[in-house]
Amino acid sequence: MSKRERSAQIQQAAEQLLPGGVDSPVRAFRAVGGEPRIVAYGRGSRLWDVDGNEYVDYVGSWGPLILGHAHPSVVEIIQRAAERGTSYGATTELEVELARLVCGMVPSVERVRFVNSGTEATMSAVRLARAFTGRDKIVKFEGCYHGHADGLLAKAGSGVATLGLPDSAGVPASFTAETIVLPYNDTAAVDAAFDAHGGAIAAVIVEPVAANMGLVPPQPGYLQHLRAATQRAGALLIFDEVITGFRLAPGGAQMYYGVLPDVTCMGKVIGGGLPVGAYGGRADVMAMVAPSGPVYQAGTLSGNPLAMAAGIVTLRILANDGVYRGLDLMGHALAEGLREAAREAECEGVTVAQLGSMVTVFFASETPRDYATARRADAERYGRFFNAMLDAGVWLPPSQFEVMFVSLAHQQRDFEQTLASARDAFAAAR
Ligand SMILES: *Cc1c(COP(=O)(O)O)cnc(C)c1O
Repeated sequence: MSKRERSAQIQQAAEQLLPGGVDSPVRAFRAVGGEPRIVAYGRGSRLWDVDGNEYVDYVGSWGPLILGHAHPSVVEIIQRAAERGTSYGATTELEVELARLVCGMVPSVERVRFVNSGTEATMSAVRLARAFTGRDKIVKFEGCYHGHADGLLAKAGSGVATLGLPDSAGVPASFTAETIVLPYNDTAAVDAAFDAHGGAIAAVIVEPVAANMGLVPPQPGYLQHLRAATQRAGALLIFDEVITGFRLAPGGAQMYYGVLPDVTCMGKVIGGGLPVGAYGGRADVMAMVAPSGPVYQAGTLSGNPLAMAAGIVTLRILANDGVYRGLDLMGHALAEGLREAAREAECEGVTVAQLGSMVTVFFASETPRDYATARRADAERYGRFFNAMLDAGVWLPPSQFEVMFVSLAHQQRDFEQTLASARDAFAAAR
């Protein structure tokens, strides 16, 4: 049993000061029934808590840390940027450089606007689509999470699923009245929605690879179908690539699957571990954004120089040959190893989903294809697996409905420790 005194003390203090003791709900470990550990520092693939326990980290700050913790080049450029001032409220060359990288790497993006979070990116993209089309309705999919803007908090996956809340309190029904929610991976449902509301639909927003109900990849042809249906109806297709952007391929899921959206939302990896989001797309659509057009969207700290610097270094490293092949090989080997560990532990009803460096261990007998099938997974068994892994020094996402992220910093010895621990943890979750 690992030491936990300092963590427990700090957590107790946190609960007196922060709602639920955290600044983002899933961090509270409620879905897995454990006590949160308070982090002291991270390096490479590893995290240390305030009691000195060491962990192999598969959360990676929920996706951003594709280079691992405290990558020397990222740390160095942040330090150098900080010495020149931390924010100016005026344009810097760093923004232009990161924009050049983004437009060069992401196939459909000709112009990009930087914001401070994925939530801001999706909220702004929806506003933009409504302005561009002059229509009000948007289509989203059950179990896809697009940040916590009011209109998008309907059947929104992980954080919400984890807490078992149908929706958020405080969101007026009128704010989600223009949001049509459909099952993921269901082309007939999309056709029916366009038949019924075609002329009123401004946009379809989708996670091209769903990663907020656990990992649920698109069925073959699904994204192509969304592209064709939106095009026919004069609606925009918005890919929320906040997770998949720079994670699945240099140009995200749109490059991986060869389907180009009109607008792309980015976040997580793009900031190299600092708070950055972005939305971008076709030049004629982006021309609607103020001050070149009438869609208002602004940010005091947007394009922050430290965050831009961290993003630039991260994307430059990711643009190197072979990076994504290496990530995919690691993800594949990890998934295979986990399947084998479950078999060896005679732990039935486990299926492991993997795509590139994203992996989810589902305690379900069938691989989920949408939110309804993902929800059949047994969160109680996942909780037992999670806690056994944590005690063995492997930090998994504290929810059945999240994704493990492999980074470029993960090493053979990390995987060996993970798989050795997994055999016992699967036995504990039988
Ligand atoms: C994390 C996430 C968001 C929200 O990003 P924040 O930076 O947490 O606001 C939006 N969309 C997807 C797909 C995400 O995974």
